[in-house]
Amino acid sequence: MNVFYPWREAPKADFAVIGDPIDHSRSPQMHGAAYTALGLQHRYVAIHVASSEVGIALDHLKTLGYRGVNVTVPHKAEAMAWADEPDALSRQIGVVNTIDLLTGLATNTDAPGFMDTLIPFGLRADSSVLLIGAGGSARALAVILAASGFRVDIWNRTSSRAQELATEFGLRQVDQATADYDLVINTTSAGLSQETLPIDWSVRKPTTVAYDLVYGQTPFLSLASQLGLTTQDGKELLVAQGARSFRFWLGIDPPKDIMRQAIQ
Ligand code: NDP
Repeated sequence: MNVFYPWREAPKADFAVIGDPIDHSRSPQMHGAAYTALGLQHRYVAIHVASSEVGIALDHLKTLGYRGVNVTVPHKAEAMAWADEPDALSRQIGVVNTIDLLTGLATNTDAPGFMDTLIPFGLRADSSVLLIGAGGSARALAVILAASGFRVDIWNRTSSRAQELATEFGLRQVDQATADYDLVINTTSAGLSQETLPIDWSVRKPTTVAYDLVYGQTPFLSLASQLGLTTQDGKELLVAQGARSFRFWLGIDPPKDIMRQAIQ
């Protein structure tokens, strides 16, 4: 378990990540490593905030002199309601994960950060994608993937939620998840409990990339890798969204390789 503080006991610091739970967060060591590498004196901490207290906790951190906050599950929508100026992308997605407490500007770095992580795979703009899940992160990816020209199908355990996203963002809802796509993205939290998803892997491309937003080896990634497919876990997204938040607050690019090493 990592060090974290209840918001009423927040220490003197410059940046924080808030969430519930928050003990699993690796953001403090990731941002801390970047500050050290760049010779910056900033401090980044993890802070526990219960759902009913997001607004009051953000007010408190601002009063304490915090410059910026990352927001994680389940507070991203409440944080957007609190922020003075969420940008156009975050308003379209409906949630923010990064707030500048000095200016009131807020954004979503998960969605563009995810696109950053796709670059090494060399996918073409019209590649086919299966989005598995229909929660907050699926929504963020639906917005950015559709805007980037990908052909996106969506499958979710609760089909009505997939249908809602499909209708809103012009995606195609499918009744059966298969692997014959250029990119199959698991945005569900099934991997956290080591649960297996009902995906038909018998139909797949040799070049299919299997991407899980959860960190580390999940049943989804294990199966894909046993079949010889290229895989990616959620750590690279953590780095990419963190790097974009860093730049949003400080206006400089952080050393991503140092951030990556810090969360291994
Ligand atoms: P939500 O709670 O909003 O959505 C959860 C989704 O998972 C729903 O579609 C739900 O389906 C589905 N689901 C949950 N359990 C199962 C299961 N056993 N089988 C099938 N489907 C299941 O979560 P988020 O979208 O916010 O986050 C999803 C995951 O992504 C989390 O594990 C989170 O940690 C990770 N994440 C990682 C990031 C990173 O930086 N690497 C960034 C953001 C998220 P249903 O609708 O049927 O309930």
